[in-house]
Amino acid sequence: MNSTPPPQLLLLVLPFLLLLQTWPSLAEEKQILPSCTGYPGIPGSPGNNGLPGRDGRDGNEGREGAKGEKGKTKGLQGPPGKSGPSGEMGLKGEKGDPGPVGIPGFTFIYWTAHKHKLLAVTHTKGNFENVLKLCREAEGLMFYPEDEEENSILQSFHRKVGILYVGATDAKTEGTFMDLNNKPLSFTKWKAGEPNNAGGNENCIHTLDNGEWNDTSCNGEFYTVCQF
Ligand code: BGC
Ligand code: CA
Repeated sequence: MNSTPPPQLLLLVLPFLLLLQTWPSLAEEKQILPSCTGYPGIPGSPGNNGLPGRDGRDGNEGREGAKGEKGKTKGLQGPPGKSGPSGEMGLKGEKGDPGPVGIPGFTFIYWTAHKHKLLAVTHTKGNFENVLKLCREAEGLMFYPEDEEENSILQSFHRKVGILYVGATDAKTEGTFMDLNNKPLSFTKWKAGEPNNAGGNENCIHTLDNGEWNDTSCNGEFYTVCQF
């Protein structure tokens, strides 16, 4: 048996032996380190502000101030007071005039009753056709005075409102005036010289101030009287 260690083992052990040889010097170095002088570190950042302190004690009471000047401006007017109690009732007024009489669609401003007829003036003017229509719409008939008495009623209306159409025409037969029931006239009140069919175009009749009649065009705008 050979007692010499194999070379492989020597290779393994050698590094340890070398390490052991340097160990004391390492230990020495360690002892020297604390006595070395280093450089000072960088200063730390400043700390946060502290909390605010408690409130101080109350100060001493101040002296009384000087008296103020007297005010100059007057105050605004106050709101009105409550109404007083009502007074005594006054005397009864006079009776008023009668109001307009009417039937649906037709107001009577001037009207009168004569025998069995109710006579009423139209509330507006119009040509013959228009006022004829007003009477018909009110279920009346354009008034033709059959005698002097009725003609004086027509005249009294004329005095109130002005010229009136008489309820008669010769449109059907020139020269023969007939009422609106197509009856030839039994009573007339022509002015002297009338009817003259002036201009060949006078198929209607209007009243004159003195109550007489004149034949005239049917286009003029006049009132008329309706009979109910
Ligand atoms: C005549 C009437 C006529 C009227 C027409 C008058 O001068 O006397 O007969 O109807 O004119 O506007
Ligand atoms: Ca005439």
